[in-house]
Amino acid sequence: MDFFLPPRCVLCGSSATRSCLCEACKSDLPWIASQCLQCGLPLNTSKDEICGQCIAKTPPFTHTLAALKYQFPADRLVQSFKFNRQLVAGRILSRIMSERAIRTGIDLPGAIIPVPLHRRRLVQRGFNQAYELAADISKHLNLPLLAMALRRRRNTKAQSGLNRKQRRKNLSNAFYWAGATKPCRHIALVDDVMTTGTTVAECTRVLKTAGAKRVDVWVAARAIRARKR
Ligand SMILES: [Zn+2]
Ligand SMILES: [Zn+2]
Repeated sequence: MDFFLPPRCVLCGSSATRSCLCEACKSDLPWIASQCLQCGLPLNTSKDEICGQCIAKTPPFTHTLAALKYQFPADRLVQSFKFNRQLVAGRILSRIMSERAIRTGIDLPGAIIPVPLHRRRLVQRGFNQAYELAADISKHLNLPLLAMALRRRRNTKAQSGLNRKQRRKNLSNAFYWAGATKPCRHIALVDDVMTTGTTVAECTRVLKTAGAKRVDVWVAARAIRARKR
């Protein structure tokens, strides 16, 4: 619409150069300094290591790449992308995810796969935010995108408000591999936010059963895990 106006920062409205996020707002984002190498949980340590929860119970995925804490104003970016379909916010997040992958020097996967939405929810929301992020990242990093190979079977209940056991039960058998061939050896699963990691763990199990050897998780933001019940 405003093709001929200079871009405005989506967070503060000031005129931003090129990208739609000004430098001040970008540096004010809740960046994760140190995190668990495996689950992406922010840590108060001087360098990345494996957190106690991952040592106690190793998740099926190998690494989690998360640039931001799911806090203000990163949560605002995610929500306006997801629920108001503000595509500019999605582009900012996918750019941040691609930059994070390059900066950390993580092994790049053979393909990236978005966490699927059930068809009914896709119709309600009109788009799958994980797919949009994955499609952008696939272009930035020149990685193959497998959009339809991993699918969601049932319209599972929203995960929020359920405890860990209920979450597992709610998700068991929710995903299946529908690819014509085996998945490649190393895959990155893409989603907008990771909270407990139950969803991506379930997707990882399905991908590994189908033949993947290593699955990493790439998310825009990491929420702090709710206390164990
Ligand atoms: Zn700004
Ligand atoms: Zn961890």
